[in-house]
Amino acid sequence: MKKRYIYILSIWLILLFFILWYLYAWLKFAKPHFHANFLMYINGQRFDFGLDKYSEDIWKCKVDENITPKDRVHLHENNADTIHVHHEWVSWWHFFANNNFYFSDKYLILDDWKLYKNDDKNKLTFVLNWKIIKNPYNRMMNSEDRLLINYWNETEEYIVKERFKKVSENAWEYNKKYDPGTCSGTNQNSIFFLLEQLLHINH
Ligand SMILES: [Zn+2]
Ligand SMILES: [Zn+2]
Repeated sequence: MKKRYIYILSIWLILLFFILWYLYAWLKFAKPHFHANFLMYINGQRFDFGLDKYSEDIWKCKVDENITPKDRVHLHENNADTIHVHHEWVSWWHFFANNNFYFSDKYLILDDWKLYKNDDKNKLTFVLNWKIIKNPYNRMMNSEDRLLINYWNETEEYIVKERFKKVSENAWEYNKKYDPGTCSGTNQNSIFFLLEQLLHINH
């Protein structure tokens, strides 16, 4: 009788192992979804990324076929501070190019073709996570990164110590809560996302 129990228990354990393995495999291949913060200051003025033209519809977060560059990385709900990343290998350049902004370490071109160049007085400065970097162009966007793009005549010390403080710090909040209505949450290790995907597959 005892042997029989051990036999049944073993079968259940083996089954459980395969179920967990299957779920883990799905979790591993879930599309990423995370958030980063940024801010752009030109001549001492905060640039307004809260306009409609810079925001994508929330349903875009759900796109998993025929992904376009704008589906990969974008803003939502006129929130000018929080970037939503929905794909692998997204660089800062991808985000700005999606919105028709271009830059190098020497110039910045806005979406209305206004050009700002380094000269004797004014300088383009990039601060990523409290450190001045030459150019974020090819840098991968990481979860909870904070980037400041600054163009004017302030000292580097002021830009890093004071101006950078203005970069919002809410990406972690978006990462933490699972609320598809606001495009928050992360897909990694999210059992809700996993179940959603599995149900979708079985449709
Ligand atoms: Zn989104
Ligand atoms: Zn999001």
